[in-house]
Amino acid sequence: MTVRAVVDALDARYPRNWAESWDRVGLVLGEFEHPVTRVLCVVDCVPETVDQALDLGADLIVAHHPLLLKPVSSIAPDTFKGALVHRLIRAGVALYTAHTNADVANPGVSDALAARLGLTGLRPLAPAEGAAAGEGRGLGRVGELSEPLTLARLAEFAAGRLPVTAAGVRAAGDPERLIRVLAVCGGAGDSFLADAARSGADAYLCADLRHHPVSEHLASGGPALVDVAHWATERPWLDEVAAWLREVFAVEVLVSDVDTDPWTVHANRNDLEISP
Ligand SMILES: [Zn+2]
Repeated sequence: MTVRAVVDALDARYPRNWAESWDRVGLVLGEFEHPVTRVLCVVDCVPETVDQALDLGADLIVAHHPLLLKPVSSIAPDTFKGALVHRLIRAGVALYTAHTNADVANPGVSDALAARLGLTGLRPLAPAEGAAAGEGRGLGRVGELSEPLTLARLAEFAAGRLPVTAAGVRAAGDPERLIRVLAVCGGAGDSFLADAARSGADAYLCADLRHHPVSEHLASGGPALVDVAHWATERPWLDEVAAWLREVFAVEVLVSDVDTDPWTVHANRNDLEISP
């Protein structure tokens, strides 16, 4: 198996023209004819996951977030990204990115998130347009919980089902509101608040929500909101893409559980044991 064969299969499953125009996906670096025997799937290509890939002897990293999204004029080894590029090339490890083209795919990133929460009857939250349109593709998913939960219970349920992070799970809206239909979106979900309101969902779970958009959304009668650490919403997809790679290729595929969410501490006065 070569880098080229795996890249071709990934490109066929996540066509590059399904990505948003601002996105940068596909092979980032690596020799096409280099053999692949071990793949590591990660959300972020950062020093911690590159360390892991090198320790495990991986030949290829499949990452969700692009390492080089914005143009650079140098990959000098004293820059953050340049150092990673040098380490990967020196170690002969290829790097591939499937980002918004994997978000929009069916099955895609939000399907894996929805599956963790046991949602059924899935449909896209924002159906895909243009090259990616059709066959249930789109950003986010809307589905039904296996049993109705109050918003407070839903937050606990999500915390129990999704990977553990320091940030945890927080929710906005009436804690007693009953949630049957849940919209989800892996990653930053701000831009789909209006779609969530139109979708008929009782709540919308995503990452990176901010004070003003949330309070305005709730004041205008939108669904309750559940905010989860960004990494935790996308980590479930790694299992799905890894299972598919194992099925297609006779290669070892590993999934990184290194928590690359940047938030590492969470404190709340109510949780403190106040000492005298
Ligand atoms: Zn993301």
